[in-house]
Parts: sequence; C-alpha cells; structure tokens
Amino acid sequence: MSQPEYLIAGNWKMNGLGADADALAKGVAAGASSAPAVTELLVCPPYLHIDRVSAALAGSGAQVGGQDCHNEISGAFTGDVSAEMLADMGCSYVIVGHSERRDGHREGDPAIWAKASAALRAGLKPIICVGETEQERLAGKAEETVARQVRACTPDGVDGSKIALAYEPVWAIGSGRTPTRDEIAAVHKAMRDALEDMLGADAGGGIRLLYGGSVKPSNAKEIMTLDNVNGALIGGASLKAEDFLGIAATCA
Ligand code: PEP
Repeated sequence: MSQPEYLIAGNWKMNGLGADADALAKGVAAGASSAPAVTELLVCPPYLHIDRVSAALAGSGAQVGGQDCHNEISGAFTGDVSAEMLADMGCSYVIVGHSERRDGHREGDPAIWAKASAALRAGLKPIICVGETEQERLAGKAEETVARQVRACTPDGVDGSKIALAYEPVWAIGSGRTPTRDEIAAVHKAMRDALEDMLGADAGGGIRLLYGGSVKPSNAKEIMTLDNVNGALIGGASLKAEDFLGIAATCA
C-alpha cells in the first residue's frame, strides 16, 4: 500500500511529566480521525512516556516514535536505548540526527548514518534530520551543506518508503524564524536531487522530505504546498494537540 503523501511528526523533546503526556496524547487521539486522509500522524515523546502514549493513541491511527536511538542492539551503553527496544515498545519511527543531538551530543554524520541503519535493521523508519547553521546559510552554503549531509547520513540502497528526511535549518528551530518559501524549495530540491542521484529516481523520488523549524498552523499551508515538501517535523507547536492537528489540517 502506498504511504500517505504527508508525514506530520511531533517531537515532544524533553517535555512533560506522565500526566501531561497522557493529556496531550488523548488530545491528538481525539482529533486524529478528522485529520486529512493524505496525512500520517506521528508523535515522538520522551522514552519514558512511549508506553502510555501508545496506549492513549491506540485505535486512533496516530503512531508513536522515538527521538533517538543507539546504533548497537544491546550492550554497555549507559543511558542509551536501541532501535530494537523502541520497536518492541510499539514505535514505528525514530528521529535521528536532530541538531540538538548533533550539537549537544557531538553526533556527526557517520554516527547518524549508523543510527539510521540500526533503525532499518530493527524495522523502524528513520527520520534523518539535516540542516545548515546560520553561518553556513549566510555564506551561501545551505544547499551544499544539506546535500552533503543527505549523502553521508542516508543508508545505501534503502527502499524510499522506509525512510524520511527532515530539513531543519539549525537557526530556525525554536526561534520563530523560518526560511523564505524559495529558500525551503531550493534546499528540498537539492535534497531530492542528491537522493535520486544516490538511490535512483524511483527510490529517491519516493522519499518524503519534511520541513522543520518554527512550523505553526499559521505558516504551515504556505510551506506544505511547496514542491518536494511532504510533511513537517514540529517541535514547540506539537506540544498543543490543537496546533499539531491544525498543522495537519493545512495539508487537505
Ligand atoms: C524541532 O526541534 O525539530 C523543531 C522543528 O522545533 P520547533 O518546531 O520548535 O522549531
């Protein structure tokens, strides 16, 4: 079966205690059946809340994912969680290479490639994050930087329906600032070209490319209607069910 055109993914980051996660997940579950048929809804809570969020979303059609994973199956990796553990908890996706991991945990492209490969090994779909810093954009190197990250982080030979990539300019995350429509379209085109070149037109052309960075209900439509934009990765606005669902609604 072909996948829905848009993946709308919420990254809850390190927010909320159990009761908050329950309330937010119930809000998403309550509205999920009204989301446009072209959308697939995903929420990525903190690890500790995955089980309760899965329970709250059961039967709603919305899915649960992890925010990161280790590349090994098991072992002496204090504080880490494997892709197999996430799959065992009912996750279907995992975010890898978020800029907060690249920056705060010093993860580079080879580590992100290994995590994406681990996710595929475990039957999870990785959402591979890429994006330029503000200095790289000001230097006119946004497309070049992102295309390099795409090539370095995407596992060879992957089936395009088994992964997604998210363009998240580092300077747009949580800042309230977004690139212009032309800037987003240019980077997504560079990502598509790199993927088609690497994987062939069918696999590379079928990969959903999400935009992330200060997406909210009021700006989502203008972004979601761009060529090669096939969804959103949402931080702050995903912490309110109404806003998360409001973003999905713009895809109709
Ligand atoms: C993110 O962290 O993935 C993100 C896109 O955050 P925000 O929507 O808050 O900018």
